[in-house]
Amino acid sequence: MSAAQHESDEIAAIRQAVRALCEKFPGEYWRALDRERAYPTEFVEALTGAGFLAALIPEQYGGSGLSMGAVIAIMEEIQANGCNGAACHAQMYVMGTLLRHGSPEQKQKFLPSIARGELRLQAFGVTEPTSGTDTLNLRTTAVRDNDHYVVNGQKIWTSRVEHSDLMLLLARTTPREQAQKRTEGLSVFLVDMREARGKGLTIRPIRTMMNHATTEVFFDDLRVPAENLIGREGQGFRYILSGMNAERILIAAECIGDAKWFIGRASGYARERNVFGRPIGQNQGVQFPIARAYAQMRGAELMVHEAAGLYEAGRDCGAEANMAKLLAADASWAAADMCVQTHGGFGFAEEFDIERKFRETRLYQVAPISTNLILSYLAEHVLGLPRSY
Ligand SMILES: Cc1cc2nc3c(=O)[nH]c(=O)nc-3n(C[C@H](O)[C@H](O)[C@H](O)COP(=O)(O)OP(=O)(O)OC[C@H]3O[C@@H](n4cnc5c(N)ncnc54)[C@H](O)[C@@H]3O)c2cc1C
Repeated sequence: MSAAQHESDEIAAIRQAVRALCEKFPGEYWRALDRERAYPTEFVEALTGAGFLAALIPEQYGGSGLSMGAVIAIMEEIQANGCNGAACHAQMYVMGTLLRHGSPEQKQKFLPSIARGELRLQAFGVTEPTSGTDTLNLRTTAVRDNDHYVVNGQKIWTSRVEHSDLMLLLARTTPREQAQKRTEGLSVFLVDMREARGKGLTIRPIRTMMNHATTEVFFDDLRVPAENLIGREGQGFRYILSGMNAERILIAAECIGDAKWFIGRASGYARERNVFGRPIGQNQGVQFPIARAYAQMRGAELMVHEAAGLYEAGRDCGAEANMAKLLAADASWAAADMCVQTHGGFGFAEEFDIERKFRETRLYQVAPISTNLILSYLAEHVLGLPRSY
């Protein structure tokens, strides 16, 4: 019995609804977009229309206020049915920063419109070309000028900006040497890109190995109203960190979905493909890697559910969320490699979708946090080993 089979009727119904929606977006749909590196607008609209992207918004703001368990089921099902939630997953966790740290006015202004699908909050600008993973060294500045902040600098890998109305932006408001603590002096803003484009905000798409709608973003004296500062000035790094557990758990769930898709495809093919007068899956050399990938996925799935349970209970889940992301990304990548191998030459053919999903799932070894950084978190914060950076 898989972890999914222990779930409530409510979650089973959500899975069924997501599956039904995904059936309308088969492999041909994704292949055509992949060739053009085009955004899956119809798919995202369908998810929005069904209310899935408002799953974590509380009911008082017009969302469905679902549990983390329900939300991981949504993300997993999207991937397990051959679709790609990366086109819109950020909305699920980015708005958590607004929800936890935004003022009542900000929440009332933005959350109901996001829940209704009128406003898209899909973009998250943290990474910069020079600082990379070393977020505290980022160089984009926001300087107060009366009732505005003036933003200058550059972000990279800011995904979905062209398909979002709002961006959550992390920028330095106090020079590093003047900040009271190492982790202070950064602030979070909600940038309304409908107003900002052409007035100090320039977006340049980056073509990547998979279809991801990612970009470089340049800020040149962009004026952001001071009322769009989230929480207290200088505390932004803490706010961003507090949203990361949800991000890790949701992406881990997507990886579990990917792994299930690869394992399903490989098992089906190994049963049907006959070579030397018998199904290739009759050879243990073919069936063992599939069985191993399955065991690896199931182990990772347990950690995803553990992390989601702790998150839901409001308990500290930093270690579990990070381990869930690490184990699930490893499981999906191992399953992807196994699936190509099981298909032999056909694993490379576009029409099988395997090479596309293979490229897509590779990302999660690097983003939103790379494997090394998770290992270093565990080493330092869980195992008490000396700090390495
Ligand atoms: C397609 C895509 C979409 C993305 N979307 C977004 C987005 O929407 N918003 C956003 O803000 N960011 C986004 N990112 C950025 C992503 O989070 C970063 O690429 C990732 O965190 C790694 O940072 P980096 O690329 O700067 O690598 P670097 O920090 O330059 O690191 C390079 C390599 O060195 C390793 N490394 C670095 N320091 C250490 C160390 N101390 N110990 C051990 N190993 C180390 C890393 O693990 C990595 O493998 C996206 C990236 C990609 C590729």
